[in-house]
Amino acid sequence: SVKQKELTQLSEGLPLPRSKDEIYELAETFNYLLKRVNNSIEQQKLFIDNASHELRTPLTVLEGFISTLERRELDAATKAEFFQTIHQEIEHLRHLANELLEISVLERIPSWDNQWVQLKPVAEESLQAFTTLAPEMQFQSQIPEEMQVLFDPYRLKQVLKILLDNAVKYANASLVEIVARQELAKTLIEVRDNGVGIPLEDQPQLFDRFYRVDKSRSRELGGAGLGLSIARTLVERQGGVLWLASTPGSGTVFTIELPNTKVPGGIKGA
Ligand code: ADP
Repeated sequence: SVKQKELTQLSEGLPLPRSKDEIYELAETFNYLLKRVNNSIEQQKLFIDNASHELRTPLTVLEGFISTLERRELDAATKAEFFQTIHQEIEHLRHLANELLEISVLERIPSWDNQWVQLKPVAEESLQAFTTLAPEMQFQSQIPEEMQVLFDPYRLKQVLKILLDNAVKYANASLVEIVARQELAKTLIEVRDNGVGIPLEDQPQLFDRFYRVDKSRSRELGGAGLGLSIARTLVERQGGVLWLASTPGSGTVFTIELPNTKVPGGIKGA
């Protein structure tokens, strides 16, 4: 048995015995688990570091603006401008707090209202919300009339909203589309834009928490780099995969691949 004091010195794991017997296997398993626990603690620490940093930035901006308002006589127009920035920063903080909460909920077992969802109306409703926000852009969808996917409807809308929001915010596109099709037992839902695309060197990290291509521009637009990591977690919860294909200069396609589809001919892959 290992005493408490010795345990604290065991961050490197148990020394492996010479003979390859059951004790050896047990020690090896223990060391493997220890490594995983240490990794996950490291990840959590990194997450908290990043989150604190993200929270501090808007607070610093707010502090600066408020103390200038206190110290100086400002004309009405400048004051109005300052208050607008203050509101914007508070909105960033609210958005960030919501995203952090969402991540924490998703790490536990979130309540999940699994049901067959008619894709076309959900996608069209999601697109509709953006037509007023970005009237200069064109929004389209191509979705088979009867297509249904197994998902929590609220969560599906959440994923689509993240992808559409990104296309509107970052792509500088003129056209955003949702295109869905069935391939064998899978459903592929694509969110496409014809915008600036994503540089090749950024693509592998794009789904990482807090990752942004252009940090200052993304922050200006309210993002902390959490949207895509949340979208991927939601899709994976449903047994699906979320990936991207992007050509810098001509646009980006995010694909949600789901394992189950219900079509008029019956359920496939369920
Ligand atoms: P945020 O929550 O800050 O919006 P995301 O995780 O959703 O971050 O996205 C990460 C980064 O990927 C964004 O900051 C943006 O730079 C880039 N990005 C995402 N979608 C697109 C897109 N459709 N076109 C161009 N860049 C994109």
